[in-house]
Amino acid sequence: MNIVKVETFPLSFPLEVAARDATGVWDSWDTVIVRLTASDGTVGYGEIGPVHGGGVLAFKALVDYRIAPRILGEDPLDRERLFQKMLGQGTSAYAFGEKGAIVSAIAGIEMALWDLTGKILKTPVYQLLGGRVLSRIPAYASGFFGKEGRPLTPKECAEEARRYADQGFKGIKMKIGYGRKRDLENLEAVRTTLGPDLGIMVDANQGFTVAQVLQLSDELAAFDLTFLEEPISIHDVAGMSRLSATVPIPLAAGENYYTHKEFRDLVTQRAVSVVQPDVIHVGGIGEAKKVAVLAEAFGMALSPHIHATVGVAASIQLLASCPHTLAAEYITSGGSYDLRRALLGDAYMVDREGYVPVPDDPGLGIQVNTEALERYGIRG
Ligand SMILES: [Mg+2]
Repeated sequence: MNIVKVETFPLSFPLEVAARDATGVWDSWDTVIVRLTASDGTVGYGEIGPVHGGGVLAFKALVDYRIAPRILGEDPLDRERLFQKMLGQGTSAYAFGEKGAIVSAIAGIEMALWDLTGKILKTPVYQLLGGRVLSRIPAYASGFFGKEGRPLTPKECAEEARRYADQGFKGIKMKIGYGRKRDLENLEAVRTTLGPDLGIMVDANQGFTVAQVLQLSDELAAFDLTFLEEPISIHDVAGMSRLSATVPIPLAAGENYYTHKEFRDLVTQRAVSVVQPDVIHVGGIGEAKKVAVLAEAFGMALSPHIHATVGVAASIQLLASCPHTLAAEYITSGGSYDLRRALLGDAYMVDREGYVPVPDDPGLGIQVNTEALERYGIRG
């Protein structure tokens, strides 16, 4: 069995209302779906993205010119060897490095290798990761993105929180980093709406300094937060370690770290209590599993960053195999959600109790609607 075809589908899904977080605004949801075909005709799907602000064709070029030539003709079951071959070492990685866009591009291919392997062996991906620990994954609703370039009001936050509670979610994650007054008013509105039993997570998208977090931490802690995500620059691991030892809120980070090597310092310096590898950014399912095991050894919980389409399937398969799963991030509306529904239909939908059931179908357990690949495709 060998890989005979590598295809990329750059997609752009227009947003009716531009979205924003503490760091930027975007008006379309862009991603790249990859498809590998094996010599027996079996296909496997993966995803590279999302890509805010354009650039999906750059990923296509990375795959077409850099990565595909390294895996065509290879055995798709050799996932770890092919990951190393795609990434390269020394002079082989000299121009592109071992982080950023090249790792995301490799992740999309790597994800497709797991899908392909599972289908060839007629087994779900979680079986290839050690077997199933969980048959359904607790999910928290992630949203509260600003509208039209402005943060949400307390009233809008309360309405969104109510909607998630009514849908059955046991926890939510909201954006902060819009200034002390707005942040605390929004949190007050959400806690009042949800009551004391539902979880609240907050994401600052690196918007604070260490000093600001120290100033704000007691007021934030009063809302009984499950975790505080990316409070400061992801590059300041020492600052995160200091905050982790000082602030009475569990800290979380991981969506901006590439390969298990970048998680080494974050974990060993105890900069977080919750690791959040994004299966795409980290380099794929294999790298995400390595991070999960590293974190488990240090008593940290696993709650991956998930904002994707095919990537949702990969993340749920990973979580099904991990005993220290805290929760899956779950996007309930907007570009990634609408595009996921268009591509995957009802697969990996959250149930009325706030859990995502783990399917038993081979590979990633998805059927990709190729019409949607056409409809939202963009050409170079
Ligand atoms: Mg985040």
